[in-house]
Amino acid sequence: MPVLDGEKAKRRVIVIDDQEINRELLGMILEDDYDVLYAENGEVGLHFIRENINTLSLVLLDLVMPVMDGFAVLETMRADPSLHRIPIVVLTAEKSAELKSLKLGAADFITKPFDAPEVIRARVARIIELSEGRSLIRAAERDELTGLFNERFFYEYCQRLERYNPNWEMDAVVVDIRRFNLVNEVHGREFGNKVLQQLAASIKRSIEHEGGIACRLEADTFFLFCRKRESYEELFETLSEDVNREVDNAHVRLRMGVCIMGGREVAPERRFARAKLACNRLRGKYSKGINVYDQEFHDKEMHYESFLNDFQRALEEKQFLVFYQPKYNIEGDKPVLASAEALVRWRHPECGMVSPGEFIPLFESNGLIQLVDYYVWRESAAQIRRWREELGITIPISINLSRVDMYDPELENKLLDLLRENDLKPEELLLEITESAYTDDARTIIEVVESLRNHGFKIEMDDFGSGYSSLNMLSTLPIDVLKMDMKFIQNVREGSKNFRMVELVLDIAEYLGVPVVAEGVETEEQVRLLKNAGCSIIQGYYFSKPVDAKTFEKFLLEKKEAHK
Ligand code: C2E
Ligand code: CA
Ligand code: CA
Repeated sequence: MPVLDGEKAKRRVIVIDDQEINRELLGMILEDDYDVLYAENGEVGLHFIRENINTLSLVLLDLVMPVMDGFAVLETMRADPSLHRIPIVVLTAEKSAELKSLKLGAADFITKPFDAPEVIRARVARIIELSEGRSLIRAAERDELTGLFNERFFYEYCQRLERYNPNWEMDAVVVDIRRFNLVNEVHGREFGNKVLQQLAASIKRSIEHEGGIACRLEADTFFLFCRKRESYEELFETLSEDVNREVDNAHVRLRMGVCIMGGREVAPERRFARAKLACNRLRGKYSKGINVYDQEFHDKEMHYESFLNDFQRALEEKQFLVFYQPKYNIEGDKPVLASAEALVRWRHPECGMVSPGEFIPLFESNGLIQLVDYYVWRESAAQIRRWREELGITIPISINLSRVDMYDPELENKLLDLLRENDLKPEELLLEITESAYTDDARTIIEVVESLRNHGFKIEMDDFGSGYSSLNMLSTLPIDVLKMDMKFIQNVREGSKNFRMVELVLDIAEYLGVPVVAEGVETEEQVRLLKNAGCSIIQGYYFSKPVDAKTFEKFLLEKKEAHK
């Protein structure tokens, strides 16, 4: 018998099941903790069992199998005293089979379809523990690497803590290491483990003296149940410093989510789920270390939730409206209408007119944005045709493409269909793609964009200057227009830092041989500066806010008039 405490070797178990999917599922659940053998029928299984007679800790046994079924295995094992030591857990979907298997000596059941992984792991651990006749409680409730609790009993201990200390107010705190996979990759797993241990030790020092408890949930996620504090800044600073103190040059960065809402009326699981949500929302936001789930956060979540619920109906009832904002060419003496940008609005039956800033990020996070986008594209393409038919003037419209659209295998077909249906040329439907999409996954985006350009589409890189393109990368990007990020235009004054940025963008554009669109232009002064600096196209409140299609017609009629 293997010695257990401090024993690192995994116990060996065998899964006997004819269905590969079941073997795989159990394998995934158990492989971290156990050395798992597999057999596809009773005969092969028995062979392995005899081969590992001294080291096998458990048999997981399916009943219905070809060649030799589970009942036959049970009978054979019962008849052989040398195999009595090894406990058998039966895998079954049939309630009726349970009694028969019990009589044949099965120790426990796992029902099919399989329970939650934790349940299965807990059962397997318990049966082995019983069969070995010793308590494994300590080992089972502690995380081996850090010595903190693991999730299994953690919530129960949280509840107990509150029960025994009726006056304590506790908060749920989640601490997570940013891009931990990168830490592992760059410095190696051993180093990663050291970082985790350091963090765990710091967590212990910080909260245990006041009665808090902590667990390591998985990988690099830690749960802290601690006494309420005024602010979590200090704790965050301490943990960040400690984790970087003894491991040189790793620049480990943390993020923290804190749920201060709910108190003991809400189950710890819920409070930690909320803290985790707050923590996850910090992904990619490096300037902010702590996110608090409070009433305001909660209300916002509920609001999002209701937006999601309203979505389908909004689409069906055409609550999404497309507004158009003119872009003017300012190269000549007089500004000339060059094109328009289509911008979506949501006329919500209860909330009134909702701006895209409020719902686009939400719909981007779950892919629904694709449906909104496609709706806007269709409306825009049809609008170009309508204006041409009704007013005798063709005006290109630029549409916004989201990140998810770039991964849609049907993107190209959808756009080409729109051209065909409305008898448009590709250069009449301009495509705006935000710079940050390029920097996320340059290779895919470049492929997609190249293919679109081969069909004649013109690509505008939106929000240029907000992402992190390098000059090197820019020179290889297939783009037709740079659309300067609005932040450069705002507060631009001659000789100011922003103005130098504008000049820099214009220089880059010249180097790339593409024109620049400046958006967010509000004043005459800005127009003058941009024109002198060599910017060719301007969009902004100076000319017009985004307006509905009917209102936009006046710009078209003006242009027509000027051409007479
Ligand atoms: P964007 O593509 O950068 O669009 C420009 C935003 O600047 C628009 O905000 C526009 O109304 C606003 N704007 C234009 N001129 C001025 C100005 O002079 N001053 C100021 N302060 N703002 C100005 P809007 O319409 O609220 O749209 C916000 C963002 O939502 C857009 O930024 C775009 O990223 C996204 N969006 C809008 N419509 C769609 C759509 O149909 N699909 C997708 N995927 N995103 C969209
Ligand atoms: Ca845009
Ligand atoms: Ca923009």
